[in-house]
Amino acid sequence: MNGEIETDVVIIGAGPVGLFAVFELGLLDIKAHLIDILPKIGGQCAELYPEKPIYDIPGYPVINGRTLTDQLLKQIEPFGPVFHLEQMAIGVDSLGSDEAPRFRVTTDTGAAYQCASVIIAAGGGSFQPKRPSIPDIRAYEGDGVQYAVRRREDFRDRDVVIAGGGDSALDWAIDLFPIVRSMTLVHRRRGFSATPHSVEKLNALIDEGKIRFELGQVARLSGPAPRLEAVTIQHDEGESTLACDILLPFFGLTMEIGPFGEWGLELHDKQIVVDTEKFETSRKGIFAIGDIGWYPGKLKLILCGFHEAALAAQKIHHYVYPDKRLLFQYTTSSTSLQKKLGVK
Ligand SMILES: Cc1cc2nc3c(=O)[nH]c(=O)nc-3n(C[C@H](O)[C@H](O)[C@H](O)COP(=O)(O)OP(=O)(O)OC[C@H]3O[C@@H](n4cnc5c(N)ncnc54)[C@H](O)[C@@H]3O)c2cc1C
Repeated sequence: MNGEIETDVVIIGAGPVGLFAVFELGLLDIKAHLIDILPKIGGQCAELYPEKPIYDIPGYPVINGRTLTDQLLKQIEPFGPVFHLEQMAIGVDSLGSDEAPRFRVTTDTGAAYQCASVIIAAGGGSFQPKRPSIPDIRAYEGDGVQYAVRRREDFRDRDVVIAGGGDSALDWAIDLFPIVRSMTLVHRRRGFSATPHSVEKLNALIDEGKIRFELGQVARLSGPAPRLEAVTIQHDEGESTLACDILLPFFGLTMEIGPFGEWGLELHDKQIVVDTEKFETSRKGIFAIGDIGWYPGKLKLILCGFHEAALAAQKIHHYVYPDKRLLFQYTTSSTSLQKKLGVK
């Protein structure tokens, strides 16, 4: 096994659809491990709109993204899903045949997972930070310019400039200011689009002189790239230059299909083509559900992804238990399903 993890199914993506797939697989005695690039579970619901109300989840007249994620996690608890966060699935090798597929999924951390089926529930693909249009910014990336705080200690005693006015920008300015040499927040407006509590706290720190606020935009970077020494800020009335070791731009995230484009799967634009009977891709044993899948009439809605998960699970049962017949059962009346759910 060479340290590889073995499981029945690897689900790539811990968004709402990947989470619900655990439930549908669990009812059929199929175990799953989930991989996600993000440090938190919940996909778009948790990352992009945790506080926004959703009105079209059956049975919930209104529920926000965070609560939906929490409820899904509660619902799948009986099936003991294993999460591997902060890793990107990058490769898939076929180890079996079309009749008895088997795969090795590898990630950018060097981890490898062996399984009978793979479910790609990767939404719009991977979230990538939006790069501001500052000349030569790429040359500084990874050193003078960083898009996430991976190790807080790397910021100790450094001159740090944060660009942006949303939750990430404010939260990191507030979190890091006690350990940095200087903290400057650059934003093109005096107003911020962050939670009122963070805005209040930030304004207090600016008033106390602990965080410096610059109204404007970062226009230029200087220093021997990738090492950054200063940033030039463009204001309405001119420019100013500030000493800066690390610039953290927080301008939100965009979605990229990422490695799936190289997996030999039939694609439609940036989505993966599936059939509507099993939600299997053009490679037997690899399924695609939720926003990443495409078929005529596909709607990028959470409820559609839930339906797709249920149908994919039926076919996956055949791959995991080729000799077992699958009986269709209702959770309301099947004592065997209720036992699995821990309610009997
Ligand atoms: C602002 C907003 C409002 C919305 N409102 C509604 C609504 O009211 N009703 C509704 O039904 N839908 C709504 N949606 C759409 C809904 O959020 C999506 O349909 C849903 O999130 C899709 O779920 P998913 O699990 O397929 O993918 P996602 O939620 O996108 O999750 C995919 C996960 O896969 C991970 N991933 C991607 N690539 C890899 C990789 N290579 N390796 C590891 N992990 C990977 C990502 O990090 C992500 O966490 C809204 C979307 C937005 C942005």
